[in-house]
Amino acid sequence: MTQRKVFRFRMEPTKAQEESLLRMAGARRWAWSWALARRKEVYATTGRILPIAQLSAELTALKRQPQTAWLRDVDSQLLQQALKDLDRAYNAFFSKRARFPRFKSKKKDKPGFRIPQRIKVEGSKVYVPKVGWVRIRQSQPIDCPIKGATFKRDTDGHWYVTLTAEFEIPDLPLPPANPDKVVGIDLGLKDFLVLSDGTRITTPKFYRKGLEKIRKAQRALSRKKKGGRNWEKALKRLRKIHAKIRNQRQDFLHKLTTELVQRYDGLCIEDLSLEGMARTKLSQSVLDAAFGEFRRMLEYKALWYRKHLVVVDRYFPSSRLCRECGTVNPALTLSDRVWTCECGAVHDRDLNAAQNIRAVGMQRIPVAVGHTETLNAWGVSVRPARSGQETTNQESHRL
Ligand SMILES: [Zn+2]
Repeated sequence: MTQRKVFRFRMEPTKAQEESLLRMAGARRWAWSWALARRKEVYATTGRILPIAQLSAELTALKRQPQTAWLRDVDSQLLQQALKDLDRAYNAFFSKRARFPRFKSKKKDKPGFRIPQRIKVEGSKVYVPKVGWVRIRQSQPIDCPIKGATFKRDTDGHWYVTLTAEFEIPDLPLPPANPDKVVGIDLGLKDFLVLSDGTRITTPKFYRKGLEKIRKAQRALSRKKKGGRNWEKALKRLRKIHAKIRNQRQDFLHKLTTELVQRYDGLCIEDLSLEGMARTKLSQSVLDAAFGEFRRMLEYKALWYRKHLVVVDRYFPSSRLCRECGTVNPALTLSDRVWTCECGAVHDRDLNAAQNIRAVGMQRIPVAVGHTETLNAWGVSVRPARSGQETTNQESHRL
């Protein structure tokens, strides 16, 4: 089975290279808009869509015209890719997945371009055709063939390269797990994660700091006259903060998920309904995004590293279920960090949840010969009685 891996690195171009990158982005924007205009023109007179092969032939002919001879200085695959991207946008429109493609604007669209081949990475540098070797902050090695690259300047003003690589994974059943290496993961708020073995991953500091900065920047923006010069400046600052937090989040989550899939054979997580969570609070929305991204990374990394990943039903009352006796505590509220069951067991809310998630997930993971898994007293078949909407909501709002 062929799998794709995506790497994203910040680029550190020299002044001259940055100018070249902007020139390439400008050429890409030009090619897209030219092709879109040609298609519109032909459609208006004949009612048919100019095929991509013909667009490509016309573009090649333009390179021989004096006023468009500059196209020869642009990587030809970059131009071809622009035509392919436009074609794809048309297909998305026809299958009702997207709006009709529009002309690219220098002001609104982030400068960027794509190149399908001939991208090399060596010694923390990426080779960009017609630009040269550009230094990158390579945070991880690339261990499989690169199939394509996107270069883009983000709202924080820095250039980034996104590399798509492909690798093969054997189409075989996963090896059975050692129960000692199966972990339950509870997503929290007080802590970012609580693991069934007692490990707590605290919510990184940059969240709080970042949120304060966002609030401040939003207030500053709201005081400016919309559309004015100062408003534009304030908007730019706000976007820059968002981009910075996004990058910090991605770094944090990449390190965390890689460590988890390397350390454990089996990972059990809860299927948190993100839409069900309160979205009004800024802090919550930022964390929602992090949990969604955490889940996405864990899924593909489990696939790469050939580890078991079990997603537990979101109606499972992980925090309210006593793992000692199997009683569900209906009175547990969001603020109860510690609770005592009628059987006398005292539970840390998040740790109890993580251990329950692990116990349920464990049922779906084959255990290696020679290892035995001790089941909890309540066995395997405990399911909540779905006693109405209230319980369900409470569970999906569990923090
Ligand atoms: Zn109990």
